[in-house]
This record gives sequence, structure tokens and C-alpha cells, in this order.
Amino acid sequence: MWDEAFPMIRPSHHPGDTLLIDYAGGALCEGASLAVATHLAFCPACRHEVAEMEAIGGALLDELEPEPLSNGCLEALMARLDHERPAPCRPVPRPPAEQSRYPEPLRSYLRGRLGRDGRIAEEGWRFLQPGMRGLDLLSGPNGTTRLIRMKGGVGVPQHTHGGIELTVVLEGGFSDEFGAFLPGDLAIGDPSLVHRPVSDPEGCLCLATTIGGLRLTGPLGRLFNRFIKF
Ligand SMILES: [Zn+2]
Repeated sequence: MWDEAFPMIRPSHHPGDTLLIDYAGGALCEGASLAVATHLAFCPACRHEVAEMEAIGGALLDELEPEPLSNGCLEALMARLDHERPAPCRPVPRPPAEQSRYPEPLRSYLRGRLGRDGRIAEEGWRFLQPGMRGLDLLSGPNGTTRLIRMKGGVGVPQHTHGGIELTVVLEGGFSDEFGAFLPGDLAIGDPSLVHRPVSDPEGCLCLATTIGGLRLTGPLGRLFNRFIKF
């Protein structure tokens, strides 16, 4: 079903220029890069934008005159990098224009987790809340990337975000105060956003990268904060 439906997917929620520029420039951490790359696999419009950004970036680099380093500049920079070494980020390969149930580069992260039918196996999922399970793909100092599967009609308690949350719908869909999110759509959560997502009747499978934490905001949510580890 997916192989036929995939070419028909035209996402309506996109990452926006800032995220695409950071992606094209290799400035995103691995989890955020994987979320954007997964959206790109579904979205010809954003793939086209990234290709243009890369072409412009390449042309600008070609025009730059190499500047001689002043004495001690390199040493000072290296010392600063040693001192403030950021958490390691592995570059995520760019998605080819292939069509499959789970497009590359996401498919590479599912290695060993796919059953014979090409679907994600049942092992390794853990309980997040009633009707909602998660399968961790990446976790580290930059945040967590996981698959989230929700049964139909399940609501996440109203929450806001301590950092950034990028969610790409893979199957099914969900809605919140900001619209309906269907396969290929990328939803961006940040500290200014308070929402209460509810999965569509057929349920939902999403890829979610959380950088920073979620904070539940409703009266019930404040209670949940103590027990739920998103
Ligand atoms: Zn897009």
C-alpha cells in the first residue's frame, strides 16, 4: 500500500528555511538531521530547496579568497575547540529519491528491527503512556530520537517543550491546535508552543527527535511530569 501511496504524498507541513539552511550546511545534530532528511524523502519541494541552497553555498565558497592565518590563530582556535568540544554529531547521509515503506536514511537506522514483511518488529518497544509506545533509535547529549506508535484516538497530555521537538509522520496521522499532520509532514515544537496532539482513528507512527525535554502543562500534565519520561 505504501509503495503505491508514497509518490502521492505531498506534505503540507515543512521544516522552514532556517532548518533547511542548517541541514544543508551540516549544522544540525544527528537526530535533527535524520528528522529533516526523512521529511525530504517525502517532499520534492524541500529537496529542491536544499539542492538550491547547496548550489548557492558552493558558489559562495568558491568566491571566498583564502585568508592567511595570523600567527597563533590556529593554535588559539584549536585550544578553544579542545576546551569547548561540542557533543559529537555524526553526519546523516542524504536521502536518495527511492521509494519504500521506510525511506533512507531512516531505513539504515531500522537495520535489524524490520520483520520479514518489511514492517518494524514488535521487540524493543517500551510503554510511554496508555496507547502509546516508543522505540529508541538514538539517544545522547543532543537529545533522543525514537519512533512513536500511537493507537487511534490517543491524546498526549497538553505539553510544551523545554527545547525543540521535530516530529515526522510516517503512517497514519495526528492533529493538534495547529492542524492535521499526515505522512511526510514535519511538526516543529518549541518552548513557545503549547499543544495537545491526538492521533487519527487509524493510529499513527512517527519519527520524533526531542532536543531538550517536554514539559506537560495541564493540571493532569503537571502530575504526569513526575512519572512520564518522554
Ligand atoms: Zn517539505
